[in-house]
Amino acid sequence: MNFIETRGNDGHRPKQITFSQAILSPMSSFGGLYSPEKLPDLGIPFLEKHIQSDYKTLATAILSEFDVDIDAAVIEEAMSLYDQFDDPKHPVPVVKVFDELYVSELYHGPTRAFKDMALQPFGTVLSAVARKRNEKYLILAATSGDTGPAALDTFRGRDNVMVACLYPEGGTSDVQRLQMVTEDAENLKVIGIKGDFDDAQSALKTLLTSDAFKATLLDSGISLSAANSVNFGRIIFQTLYHVHSYLELVRQGAISMGEKIYLNVPSGNFGNALGGYYALKMGLPVEQIHIASNNNNVLTKFIKTGVYDLRDLGVIPTTSPAMDILKSSNIERILFDLFGGERTKTLMLALDHEKHYELTEDELAQLQAIFAADFCTDEEVSRFIKRSFDAGYLMDPHTATCFKAYDTCRADKTIKTIFYSTAEWTKFSPMIAAALTGEEGLHDIEALKSIAEKAKVKIPAKIEKLFQQPIAQSTVIDKKDIEKSILSFLK
Ligand SMILES: *Cc1c(COP(=O)(O)O)cnc(C)c1O
Repeated sequence: MNFIETRGNDGHRPKQITFSQAILSPMSSFGGLYSPEKLPDLGIPFLEKHIQSDYKTLATAILSEFDVDIDAAVIEEAMSLYDQFDDPKHPVPVVKVFDELYVSELYHGPTRAFKDMALQPFGTVLSAVARKRNEKYLILAATSGDTGPAALDTFRGRDNVMVACLYPEGGTSDVQRLQMVTEDAENLKVIGIKGDFDDAQSALKTLLTSDAFKATLLDSGISLSAANSVNFGRIIFQTLYHVHSYLELVRQGAISMGEKIYLNVPSGNFGNALGGYYALKMGLPVEQIHIASNNNNVLTKFIKTGVYDLRDLGVIPTTSPAMDILKSSNIERILFDLFGGERTKTLMLALDHEKHYELTEDELAQLQAIFAADFCTDEEVSRFIKRSFDAGYLMDPHTATCFKAYDTCRADKTIKTIFYSTAEWTKFSPMIAAALTGEEGLHDIEALKSIAEKAKVKIPAKIEKLFQQPIAQSTVIDKKDIEKSILSFLK
């Protein structure tokens, strides 16, 4: 499979590149991204062939349809990382919650959020590609709380790769912070920033596009890459579980083969939803994809009106912080797939420079044929968590945002829906405890115990252990010192 550029070619870069090139340098001409030139066909015959396949077998088969330039042995090693999930045979359980509603649990990996689904195999693949080319990479990650732990976990101790991870000091939960600052491998550096996630993210973007920074790194023989979902190496692993979840509904007798379903995705940077979109394009029977947001509801407005508007907007902190995002990077790949490179370049440059753009009526109709959207306030999220718990299912605040779109977006209420559950309750316990018992302002450890008792569930050992582990990373700095701090880590 080859990759082409979402904003067209600038005449200097190659017109198309391979998968391994796309994951090593994810940015393309005019500030665009790389997208697949053509998608494989995973229609009914493919699905029927894999009706009894376990997750790894199915995943390996889909990757081979993508025809990526990665050795089979590396793919096999990458897939073996799903063996560390709670149940190696079923890394992604799909659970019935109400009659028409199923939840695909994407959080059973080592860091208890869905970022593991892609970052676990991505770590193996990226490190193998770097080793094969005899190159050394610095991976930059900015995190609001889930990407950081998952990126550190996957690259811990790996050859040819170092990670510098920026997080907003005070802006994550205790569990998320401890997951990062207890990492003590030599190739990992965790840096707390005095500022918010936007500060961390913009510092990262400045470094990624700074020629001076790149030149300094190259002097020490180090190249630069990124681990967020602009990297197609993450997206490819996020198409797999959509196909798996569909087949799981067929296996459970919830639907017959070929019957259409709704996907309902709690969205921020739109990597998860983009994976669902590609699955649909490849032939998965999906009626429509419903996009759930919190009060940062740019995507809801965009899908309802065709206007993407960042003017006069600031990020609103919510109880679902991994979705506190305004500039949703992977929308660009949707624009490219629907409307082509020239139009995408016009729209994205308008967003970069004028902070807004608007689709034509015809374009909006094409978008709405595939997507519908709605958003939740924090109060609604609390109520949905409580309602779901009373019905026997404990969920995290990100997953709970799906309920609003579930209530308002389904044109046909007989069609089954899959919610994608993106985090375990353990990562956001203070707000869940408040929703369930009314206890406000608990620390994570108290909230974890309170919920575990009320819900009669166990706190996973990996989470409980965090509170006893020594702190290995204590750097907290002003944002102007980020570059200096990274360079001194590299020495
Ligand atoms: C990253 C994340 C999201 C958003 O996913 P995108 O692919 O960026 O849309 C939602 N929920 C949780 C818990 C996350 O960590």
